[in-house]
Amino acid sequence: MFNKLKDKFKEVVSRLSQDSEEKTLIVEKKTEDNKEGIIKKVKRAITTHKLTNSKFEEIFWELELGLLQNNVAIEVIEKIKENLKVSLVDVPIEKSKISEIIEGELKKTVSDLFANKNIDVVEETKKKEGPSIILFFGINGSGKTTTIAKIAKLMKSNGLSPVLAASDTFRAAAIDQLEYHAKKLEVPIIKHDYGADPAAVAFDAIKYAKTKNLDVVLVDTAGRIHNNSNLIEELKKISRVINPDLKLFIGESITGNDCIEQAKKFNSSIGLDGIILTKSDIDEKGGTSISISYILGKPIIYLGTGQGYGDLEKFNINKLKESLGW
Ligand code: GDP
Repeated sequence: MFNKLKDKFKEVVSRLSQDSEEKTLIVEKKTEDNKEGIIKKVKRAITTHKLTNSKFEEIFWELELGLLQNNVAIEVIEKIKENLKVSLVDVPIEKSKISEIIEGELKKTVSDLFANKNIDVVEETKKKEGPSIILFFGINGSGKTTTIAKIAKLMKSNGLSPVLAASDTFRAAAIDQLEYHAKKLEVPIIKHDYGADPAAVAFDAIKYAKTKNLDVVLVDTAGRIHNNSNLIEELKKISRVINPDLKLFIGESITGNDCIEQAKKFNSSIGLDGIILTKSDIDEKGGTSISISYILGKPIIYLGTGQGYGDLEKFNINKLKESLGW
């Protein structure tokens, strides 16, 4: 997933290490000669590198494009740049340590992008008295239905009982598709006719879960284009009626900035608790997963890693660092 980005980060380290100005510093160190009790001054020559601001700007400008092409968001590129600048510009750094310092700063900056507290969806569901209600939203084609099916399977394999709510009543095919998964996974589904009130479908599913003592209600929703005001109003209504425990955004990792813009829109109008990024298995760039959590201030909870029901991976920062070769 991160092959290209890994190379780009390597390029950042090597370009910044090479193009700094070389200088020999004479460092004076006072040491006490114990025998004679005299303070001695010891001079040592150290080869240091110093990067001027204009040189830094010039090199980083060349690298920015590569990061952008790999779906790293502008805000994140700016943060990386600012952090590197503070530790590099006009700071004399020992030659032997320069790559290490740049790489260390890069690693720290990327780790800090994931400071948002993660959510364990299964544990949260187990803790909740009565059914947990999870509302999913995202635009059509992002993998919403497939992901809901994956979560249903995950819940089942953790001994929890799900029910699906077919609240995407905008497309008849969406109801059929969710029903297909429900049958395969042997989980109940609550559906009304095409065109019905989606909030009413979700409400009925919650009623069903309470009557049958089920643990979790997974609510599918319509996914027309994210700036469609009718869709947003409809989602707000569903959210008001069912008061979900979790609101999860499903976005395609491969779509980069589009995915982030969609998430921002949903977050500002409905509010979201976490992100699931699908299709990470076919994302060769990886920049969306580096950027989205920082920009939204919300955790990535899962990554979709394929089309099978088991292809859902809990997001793990250490695994991400490993893929970056760190
Ligand atoms: P929806 O319109 O948002 O409900 O999207 P679907 O669930 O129908 O998914 C659209 C397509 O993406 C389907 O062909 C899915 O099999 C595929 N898909 C979903 N998640 C993943 C994933 O994590 N990896 C891959 N490779 N394909 C996925």
